[in-house]
Amino acid sequence: MTPHPPALARWPLLRRLTGLVSRRLDVRIVTLFLLLLVLVQAASFITIRLGIDANARDQIGAELRTGENVLRRLLQQNAQNLNDAARLLAADYGFRSAIASSDKLTLVDALDNQAARIGASVALFTDAQTQFVAGTIADPQPVLQLVRRAKESAGTIDAAALQVLDGRPFQLVTVPVKAPQLIGHVSMGFPLTAQVITDMEQISGLRMALVVRTHAGAWQSLPIGAAAAPWRQLAEQLQAGPADGMVMIGGEHLGARVVALARSDNHEVAAVLLRSVDEAIAPYRQLQLTLLVISLVGLGVFALGSVITARRITGPIKALSASARRLGEGDHTTPVEVTSRDEVSELAQSFEVMRQGMQQREAQIRRLAYWDALTGLPNREQFRDLVRDQLDRARREGTCVAVLMLDLDRFKHVNDVLGHAFGDRLLRQIAERLGSGALRPGDILARLGGDKFTACLLNADADIANEVASRLRRVLEQPLTLDDHTVDVSASVGIATFPAHACDADTLLGRAEVAMYATKARQAGVSVYDPGVDTSSEQSLSLLTELRTALHHDQLRLFLQPKIALDSGAVLGAEALVRWQHPTRGMVSPMSFIPFAERTGFIRELTGWMIERCAARSRELRAAGGHFKFAINLSTRDLVDQSLPDKLERLLVRDRMDPRSLCMEITESAIMDDPQRALQTLQRLHGMGLRLSIDDFGTGYSSLAYLKRLPLHELKIDKSFVMAMESDRADLKIVRSTIDLAHNLGLSVVAEGVETAQTWALLQKLNCDEAQGYYMARPMPETEFAAWARDWVPPCERLESQFATMF
Ligand code: C2E
Ligand code: CA
Ligand code: CA
Repeated sequence: MTPHPPALARWPLLRRLTGLVSRRLDVRIVTLFLLLLVLVQAASFITIRLGIDANARDQIGAELRTGENVLRRLLQQNAQNLNDAARLLAADYGFRSAIASSDKLTLVDALDNQAARIGASVALFTDAQTQFVAGTIADPQPVLQLVRRAKESAGTIDAAALQVLDGRPFQLVTVPVKAPQLIGHVSMGFPLTAQVITDMEQISGLRMALVVRTHAGAWQSLPIGAAAAPWRQLAEQLQAGPADGMVMIGGEHLGARVVALARSDNHEVAAVLLRSVDEAIAPYRQLQLTLLVISLVGLGVFALGSVITARRITGPIKALSASARRLGEGDHTTPVEVTSRDEVSELAQSFEVMRQGMQQREAQIRRLAYWDALTGLPNREQFRDLVRDQLDRARREGTCVAVLMLDLDRFKHVNDVLGHAFGDRLLRQIAERLGSGALRPGDILARLGGDKFTACLLNADADIANEVASRLRRVLEQPLTLDDHTVDVSASVGIATFPAHACDADTLLGRAEVAMYATKARQAGVSVYDPGVDTSSEQSLSLLTELRTALHHDQLRLFLQPKIALDSGAVLGAEALVRWQHPTRGMVSPMSFIPFAERTGFIRELTGWMIERCAARSRELRAAGGHFKFAINLSTRDLVDQSLPDKLERLLVRDRMDPRSLCMEITESAIMDDPQRALQTLQRLHGMGLRLSIDDFGTGYSSLAYLKRLPLHELKIDKSFVMAMESDRADLKIVRSTIDLAHNLGLSVVAEGVETAQTWALLQKLNCDEAQGYYMARPMPETEFAAWARDWVPPCERLESQFATMF
């Protein structure tokens, strides 16, 4: 979902619109602003329009009202004029003599003349009792009615009024004729002419129509003035609507005001005043148009402005996101452009700082990834690439390539005794020596880590490689002096060649390594790869598969060899030793698969299995009331396995086991392979309360002084010394001093390889703590251990019972 500005949240239509428009920020900003502006403009436009309309209506109303006044004034003025004319006539001597003559014809003649003179269409004379005397019309009755009504209502009848005669409007004036007494009245009717309408229209600016209707009938226009057609429409509209309001004539809106002018018994006459709405609004329309143009231009300018602003905002953001994408794709070299001078630019600057940091780190990582930090030589990765290149070249040119693998002898020892800093400097010196002189031009030297070096020799077969290897060894043999220490360094070298031993870089390196280990094992100095000794060959691959099968198909067996207290003869526990119940080969000794399992890393799984088995056996024995210590052998790989302590911890908790009932046997060499990590693991195991034992003591290089630094509880003297101590005084001495020194360090001592009663007795005398050996028991299937321990009779008691039977 695209987030919307909160203001839009309640406006689903607007939200949908903006959502529809785009998910792009700039488009959304522009759209939103424009929409809002259009809304505001439309609102003000509508308000103004409504205002104008209302205003126009008011104005039209006012104009029409004024128009009515004007019309009434005009009619009054007209009547006044007529009245004056009628009075003149009444005072005329000739006219009065015509009355006096009592000759009707003369009187009609005089009336006719006078009427024609002042433009009246009707003239009549009535006596003082308003009885008709003479007139210019055939039927004087309607006029007489009017004359009488005027006289009755006003008392005087000299006022001029609008009257309807034959459905036509007339202004009828009646004036008295006196001689000098009242002798009658003269009434004159003037038809309302088009002139009145013209005058009215000119004075008021309104349009005017006259309409008439009988009391029962419909309005009809009077054909005075303008053409009849539009007024017919008007009359029609007057039937329906109110007297005042809007009418529509010929497609034009007009404000109308109906002014009642006259009413007779039969007729009603009205003037309709009209004002064109369109005309009234016309000046505003122009204003509105101008406003619209301004709004549109404003909208355009605003759109342009918001597009530019949106671009200004989104442009740098886009540039930034492009930079971020580049950084994500690993391009750390292109600088992050800072284009603006606002918050985005601060962000861009932070990005740039980040990029520089990344670039530096990348360079460093690259350095670390391809170069050995200590010696400055290529590292394993780079060396592999270089060998690959050389192999490609050799393939093209049909030449050979040799790889030498060189491992320093006893270097770990140097490291441990003289310290890592010393070891590092020594390695640097060794690298310098190896690089100077012994190699041929073009040969590549690299350090693979630890005390392993390697060289790639171009155009070299096994013989040349042998020569170079010997030269390298000779270079190293000259003692090295550092900080007053003189160190003898020697190295074991393995050689493998292309195309004789391998066709690709990895195999070639692997085979040189195999050769190097073979050299070490045989202490041969230098040797060339021999497929016969290669444990990493296909044969060993199948062995690994077989071992896996052994583990998963329950072919491994836990054997236990008792550990006995020398003073009391009590069974303290047992060492856990593995056997392989092979389906065809029978019971396989650990010596034939443990070293392999160690090399391949399979030993971890095996150790895991042993730990589980021991825990299970311990549970069973505990349930039967037997509390025994179990000693489990750990190898190098186990010591660097970070998950091992966790595994053990879980097990202790799960089985609620006393940690002191588990002892870990570790050989010196296992510790020396990676002393630092081994020490870490040992400290963790120690912290958990497990017992730790140093196995096969005496076969390695470690001094007791070094062992002192390890968190140990127990020391196991190697069986080679124990088995020979009876006959070899030197070995006896070693055993004795080891026991004493170990005791001084607070360690308990176990002698393994006790094969005879004499050895047992000797060890007892030497104050050794525990013994383990064939004399007491060979390793036995775990199931037999409980019975064996029950039946066990210590040698001392055995002697006593022998004595007892003798006497
Ligand atoms: P080790 O840890 O030194 O185990 C003692 C070896 O000495 C055992 O050989 C045992 O049978 C043998 N031994 C005990 N008493 C005598 C004696 O009086 N005379 C003689 N000649 N030998 C005696 P085993 O069981 O063949 O084990 C050989 C080695 O295999 C062990 O040496 C140990 O290093 C390794 N190993 C055995 N099981 C395991 C295991 O579960 N894990 C690991 N990592 N290594 C194991
Ligand atoms: Ca052992
Ligand atoms: Ca041992």
